[in-house]
Amino acid sequence: MRGNARLTLLFSQETIATRVRELGGQISRDYMGHEILLVGVLKGAFVFLADLMRTLQVTAQVQFVRLASYGTGTTSGGHVHLTQDLEGSMVGRHVLVVEDILDSGLTLSVLLQQLRAREPASLKLCVLLNKRIRRRYEITPDYVGFDVPDDFVVGYGIDYAECYRQLPDIYALTIPAPRS
Ligand code: 5GP
Ligand code: MG
Repeated sequence: MRGNARLTLLFSQETIATRVRELGGQISRDYMGHEILLVGVLKGAFVFLADLMRTLQVTAQVQFVRLASYGTGTTSGGHVHLTQDLEGSMVGRHVLVVEDILDSGLTLSVLLQQLRAREPASLKLCVLLNKRIRRRYEITPDYVGFDVPDDFVVGYGIDYAECYRQLPDIYALTIPAPRS
């Protein structure tokens, strides 16, 4: 905890591990006989991707993209651009994008559009957390860890101003408004 920020537990590490194993099983069945290219979205998805990848029973390669949209605050900037791109061709490959949170959908709609243009054999989306009620852009994830309410979440790779990524559980963060 930093300053007077408050953390409320949403998902414990045991709950997360169980759900990640279930997702890995589902993905392994769906892609049986194929090789997957996992595309992780930095930085928030790196812990989830590392755990998910180790539950897969199909051959998987991994790459990362980096997108800028949120800055250091808690609300979306509205502008998205790639600050780290993929290496090599995606033509004919089975691409599974792995992201921490699907919120308004802006970030992923931009990314998926760019990836679709690179002619993968298939393109699917796996998100750890889905904030369905916040959706402004139409995106339906193929794999979802948990549905979450409209809280600001941290932990398990997910940050607030670059802090809290190291927490093994997922929390809702509340920062009390300063007294006037
Ligand atoms: P969208 O473009 O869907 O509105 O926002 C998606 C991105 O915003 C997520 O990938 C994530 O990086 C960030 N984001 C959305 N909600 C939260 C949240 O509750 N906590 C944190 N740390 N980031 C969030
Ligand atoms: Mg993200």
